[in-house]
Amino acid sequence: MEPEGALTENPSLSMQNVEIIDVLSNEESSIDDATIREESARKDASEESDEDGEDDEIWESESLYADALEGLGDEQLSAGGETSQRDRMRWQSLTLSVGLEPGACTLEEAIAYRQEARMIGTVAQFVGNTVGTGAITAKKLCTAFGIRPPAFLEGAKDRAYDLLLYLGVTRELSKRNKLTQYNTMEDAMDLLRKSNNIIVITGAGISTSLGIPDFRSKETGLYSKIELHGLSDPQEVFDIGVFREEPGIFYEIAKDILPSTDKFSPTHAFIHLLQERNKLLTNYTQNIDNLEVKAGIREDKLIQCHGSFAFASCVKCGYRVPGEAIFEDLKAGRVARCPDCGSNKRKRGASQNKGKNKRSSGGDSDDDEEYDIPEPGVMKPDITFFGEELPHLFHDRLTKHDRDLVDLVIVIGTSLKVAPVSEVIGYLPSNVPQMYISRTPVNHINFDLDFLGDCDVVVAELCRRLNWDLEHEMIPKDQKIDVQLQDGFASRYTFKVIE
Ligand SMILES: [Zn+2]
Repeated sequence: MEPEGALTENPSLSMQNVEIIDVLSNEESSIDDATIREESARKDASEESDEDGEDDEIWESESLYADALEGLGDEQLSAGGETSQRDRMRWQSLTLSVGLEPGACTLEEAIAYRQEARMIGTVAQFVGNTVGTGAITAKKLCTAFGIRPPAFLEGAKDRAYDLLLYLGVTRELSKRNKLTQYNTMEDAMDLLRKSNNIIVITGAGISTSLGIPDFRSKETGLYSKIELHGLSDPQEVFDIGVFREEPGIFYEIAKDILPSTDKFSPTHAFIHLLQERNKLLTNYTQNIDNLEVKAGIREDKLIQCHGSFAFASCVKCGYRVPGEAIFEDLKAGRVARCPDCGSNKRKRGASQNKGKNKRSSGGDSDDDEEYDIPEPGVMKPDITFFGEELPHLFHDRLTKHDRDLVDLVIVIGTSLKVAPVSEVIGYLPSNVPQMYISRTPVNHINFDLDFLGDCDVVVAELCRRLNWDLEHEMIPKDQKIDVQLQDGFASRYTFKVIE
């Protein structure tokens, strides 16, 4: 089964936060949709009372299903059927801790069923071959796919578990298997040496060493400022609906996220080095600080998936200006207005008509809509807000160019929780090796190699081992790095600076 549906069948490609569906985020679009609806349902419910009882019930049960899916979560049984002692212990503690014994599949059964599902390739046929023949109950088969039978289904007919089973099997089928041939540091060096079309996907983590806050993180100072406006989540500042209603909130905090430095990090320099060595296919960045450009990444190799401050546009008429034109307003926390629809309005002789219009309420004021324009449109930096579509370049480059060329994927400094960027790697051919460089591991994607640590430190060490000259003032000349294989993992390494 090709997990590419999410990108190809969903033409809107608007930016969505998929954080709450961590373990589900690599799913087919149908499940994403359901869960995203669930998320909006939660939001709606907290704002106003519910309008439709029936929908409510659906959401309610989807939410319960999602909880059940998360129950046994995301344990990754060894691909290829080898069972390690670690797998066995984890499986036992999982099944015991949720009270599944003796109704649960054993580890061996679970692995066999997962392999069978992958071999068959479609959910319906797999379920037909198993539950359909009476070989196993749907309830028990759920446990093979990491699903804890939820309490609300206790005592129900076995058919009641069908949907849950479907979700669990779909999740398994859409998850890419780790490529077992890449495990050692030397494997990583080889990949970097021989790959010539590398996709690098980056996020906030590559700029934090420069003091640029990750505005998605709740630990930043933005959080308390935002609470003053009655918003509960810093991300709401980047919600297009909130911006349209109250642009002042964005303008008030904008100075804190406005790029304040031309400096770039060692990780930016690493991506530039890949470009210099003719190895960079495309850098997809979710950052809006435009530092890739400062680091010298060429425009034809860079996709700023969430836009940048390089330009700003009027939300009303689309008039576009260089970003610097509104920097003064952004720094002052003052809502910038469009110079274009402002002047049009004056051209229409607003001074003489405005007063007239106000006095003559009724009949004729309806036809002259331009009189209803209360003021010029608000200027918005060309960064992508939640609920807005991504730049078209993003989709075109990925589907029409990169997909056929890519030979290595390196994900750096992002937990890949914002769609559709989070779906990029699932869209690429599954036999293309994938590396992950970040402080903390992610569970919803099987990378082939995980390098955990400060990304500046990791890339510096990789270059040292490759004899690639990565020069940057923030990399100490005599830096020594300790690289350790993490216990219980075949391809997960931690990088620490030796003090
Ligand atoms: Zn305008």
